[in-house]
Amino acid sequence: MPARHDLVTDPAVVADLAAVRFGTAYFRRALQHVTDGGLAGPSLLPGWSRGALVAHVGYNARALTRLVEWAATGVENPMYASPEARDAEIAYGASLRPVALRNLAEHAAIDLDVRWRDLPAERWSVTVRTAQGREVPVSETVWMRMREVWLHAVDLDSGARVHDVPAPVLERLLRDVVGTWSRRDSVEVAVVADDVEVGDPASAVRVVKASLADATAWATGRGTLPGEDPAPRWL
Ligand code: ZN
Repeated sequence: MPARHDLVTDPAVVADLAAVRFGTAYFRRALQHVTDGGLAGPSLLPGWSRGALVAHVGYNARALTRLVEWAATGVENPMYASPEARDAEIAYGASLRPVALRNLAEHAAIDLDVRWRDLPAERWSVTVRTAQGREVPVSETVWMRMREVWLHAVDLDSGARVHDVPAPVLERLLRDVVGTWSRRDSVEVAVVADDVEVGDPASAVRVVKASLADATAWATGRGTLPGEDPAPRWL
């Protein structure tokens, strides 16, 4: 008998589930503001139509669902068979009629949410592997999804703005981005945003000061800052 309530008990995950549901609703509204004809138009991601972006967000939910299944069953279940398979399904999704594409995105999001709901409390710490090869507890899928729905809602270019993203999500995004630059590229950037400090301004080669929303928009490649070069690549 499937549960009708979340089985997870870890308060941090419970809070993340509430936050991701809020973000999912925000993405849904942003998509509602795109007309069927508008799906063929460009998103804010260079080279991506809005339709391709919606397909990506839908298939991302399916891919994260596979990680949750992995945690539930203990049987390895990668996000994508290969990078080529991932690209092929996005192209396929983008070719669907608008109603089918919208259904794909909606059903995939609901299915992922049901899998989270039904994942037993003791399985949330099971280690799974992301498409980038990172080993993470399956609870990380909630944050991975949160990033997707908030940022890609903005990318739909239908009125959503980075400034609408809740401050705790902005701060976490900023920490993710600055951490990636440091780890992957050995580029030490510090950001001082409102009362949030990310990185170490004393040792960083570059210290950026802006509001939290402006700094996050810049750091994720979704905005510019006066007097600053574009941010280094993130993903
Ligand atoms: Zn994405």
